[in-house]
Amino acid sequence: MPTSATPSTITVKLSPSGRWSVSLLVDVEIEALPPSGNQVGIDLGITSLLALSTGEKIANPKGFKVKYRKLRRAHKALNRKLKGSNNRDKARIKVARVHQEIADARKDNLHKLTTRLVRENQTIAVENLAVKNMVKNRKLALAISDASWGELVRQLEYKCDWYGRTLIKIDRWFPSSKRCGNCGHIVENLPLNIREWDCPQCKTHHDRDINAAKNILAAGLAVSVCGATVRPEQSKSVKAGAKPLKGKKQKPK
Ligand SMILES: [Zn+2]
Repeated sequence: MPTSATPSTITVKLSPSGRWSVSLLVDVEIEALPPSGNQVGIDLGITSLLALSTGEKIANPKGFKVKYRKLRRAHKALNRKLKGSNNRDKARIKVARVHQEIADARKDNLHKLTTRLVRENQTIAVENLAVKNMVKNRKLALAISDASWGELVRQLEYKCDWYGRTLIKIDRWFPSSKRCGNCGHIVENLPLNIREWDCPQCKTHHDRDINAAKNILAAGLAVSVCGATVRPEQSKSVKAGAKPLKGKKQKPK
């Protein structure tokens, strides 16, 4: 926290795991980052956490699976304990601690990721996923909850705002996966288990998620140039979501 800043709100919280936390709300002027020439499209991966239009794939942290196993074990132990007993209370705190551990790790990971993406890029394009519409496929649902897509987009939003970057959000109805990023051809069907495919028209070989990220970037740039709602081929709608670049923000610490 800058030494000149005086907090306007101080919040003290006791979590179910028994941990105290203090948060301070301070008004500070945040300096925009120097402009960058880079731009990136981000796709929520299925096999990876994120796929970038640059060709990079970002994996879920490896420790997560271990932590979920630990959580399951703690739950089982809790269920075996007699109701009203001291041991049950202890087991309940144990479960809360593991929950907290997972939440902390996830948040930490997302913060590192969004800070890096905002530092490196002037413009970031993402799909505005309505998570609740996507729970049909259970594996995908797990990947989404794991990826915390909503939190990721939320962090990108305020960090772009702070640092003078542009975030463009695109409706999820855009056929980002099925469209060939090279020639624009849209394939009729691309089942979720198909991870790589060849465009029947221009023969380009695609990684499913990277191709989607490239399409998201292209659509995002088209939107930001038009500055309004546009309708690219066969998609239902694409909305501009660019945020104003500057302003005084309350920075939670
Ligand atoms: Zn093609």
